[in-house]
Amino acid sequence: MGTSGFGFVRTARRGTARRIIVLGRQGSGKGTQCDALARRLAVRHVSAGDALRRAVRTGSPIGSAVEAIMEAGELVDDNLVLEAIWDHIGDEAPSGFVLDGFPRTVEQAKLLDDRLGTGGIDLAIRLAVPVEEVVSRLSRRRVCTVCGLDHPGAEPGATCDRCGNQVAPRADDNPTAIRARLALYDRNETALTSWLSRHTDLISVDGDSTPEAVAGRMWAAVKSHPSALVPVNSHAHATGSRFADVAVGLSAG
Ligand code: AMP
Repeated sequence: MGTSGFGFVRTARRGTARRIIVLGRQGSGKGTQCDALARRLAVRHVSAGDALRRAVRTGSPIGSAVEAIMEAGELVDDNLVLEAIWDHIGDEAPSGFVLDGFPRTVEQAKLLDDRLGTGGIDLAIRLAVPVEEVVSRLSRRRVCTVCGLDHPGAEPGATCDRCGNQVAPRADDNPTAIRARLALYDRNETALTSWLSRHTDLISVDGDSTPEAVAGRMWAAVKSHPSALVPVNSHAHATGSRFADVAVGLSAG
């Protein structure tokens, strides 16, 4: 690995603030991309959907409250999702995280911003993938029933590459629930991106490509952001100066 790339990772390990949220339609590849980005930045990847599914699996009070709503493809109560993800972000918040699937609405963005306190969200990345492409990806999606790892196109009876458990379609990846989730996402996205562009830095990344190509664009987006190289102690959103929206790999934002 070259000096500049490696130096950047080392900076992350010294405690650079990188509170990154990633938005995108279901099936846009957020999970895979967030995982790769979090590893590269040496911060935690927290997925709202995974946190909620874990709550359902463990039979926690949050899990019991959200199970039926999730199966219908509807949005879970804002405070319940925040509590589910906060269980995983918790003490790590000051050193950074890559958050996937939260916020999905302006109300959730405000709740997260309040909970984070000083500094708030550093960077929002919007992963842009056309509807037809995500519908096709979701209909092929197969995930581990225990750890949630994606195994696109896995044959019936396949087991997880990571933990060895059974791989199967997700309960909410039926055609009716897929359509409901995409329509709901699109309804909320315009207001959310408008709010985010006023309150943090928002970068659109073209996600309609190979995972490797998209990962390269995500990394370019992060590197283009000033907080990426600023140590925690000198990192504060005191100036109020904001980037204009930037598009990475997109011909139009
Ligand atoms: P996902 O894994 O992102 O497709 O999310 C699966 C399900 O979890 C969604 O259909 C919702 O029911 C619920 N969910 C995930 N993230 C959120 C969120 N930010 N707000 C409300 N519900 C959510």
